[in-house]
Amino acid sequence: GVRHEPTSKIVLDLERLYDEASEDLAYVARYARAIQQQRGDYNGRVLSIRADDLRALAIVYDASPSGLIERLNEHGVLVADPRAFFAS
Ligand code: C2E
Ligand code: C2E
Ligand code: C2E
Repeated sequence: GVRHEPTSKIVLDLERLYDEASEDLAYVARYARAIQQQRGDYNGRVLSIRADDLRALAIVYDASPSGLIERLNEHGVLVADPRAFFAS
């Protein structure tokens, strides 16, 4: 059948996130590591995260969810389309 995917699915580029020297993303990186641990998802190049978790993280950054997304984009750690990401 047809999959109706939410347009706002948040997918992190883990390599970039963990390489990112900026202190700015330290909490996002720590959160992503915790999620990987909870899922037992250690080998991924990317990580899809919950909208709920993004909301919680935004509070830590004193930002709106869309504000945090913008910030993640500026750092280049968001993957717009994970399938295209792996095809390239
Ligand atoms: P849980 O929330 O009780 O979820 C149990 C299982 O349901 C998960 O096992 C996963 O297979 C599935 N599941 C739940 N919500 C979703 C979802 O939105 N999408 C998908 N694809 N599957 C979902 P899993 O992955 O082994 O996670 C085990 C537990 O670790 C979860 O139990 C939850 O307590 C925690 N966890 C894992 N990932 C996250 C996360 O991204 N955020 C939060 N807050 N907790 C997470
Ligand atoms: P998608 O969500 O667009 O993800 C494309 C590919 O990105 C996935 O290919 C996987 O290699 C990677 N990816 C995305 N999120 C994560 C993540 O949180 N952890 C890891 N380790 N890799 C991730 P894959 O696995 O062949 O999946 C292809 C498509 O199948 C996915 O496209 C999605 O539409 C569906 N799918 C796979 N697993 C689940 C699942 O647990 N729940 C749901 N609802 N769909 C899934
Ligand atoms: P997804 O698997 O394609 O799920 C899309 C949305 O469907 C989720 O958005 C959530 O609203 C709902 N959903 C899917 N499975 C469950 C479930 O078992 N319980 C509940 N209550 N809702 C469910 P959300 O939460 O924003 O998550 C976005 C993506 O993050 C998920 O896409 C999945 O790729 C990943 N994810 C979230 N939580 C987990 C988890 O616990 N384990 C794993 N392995 N992946 C997760």
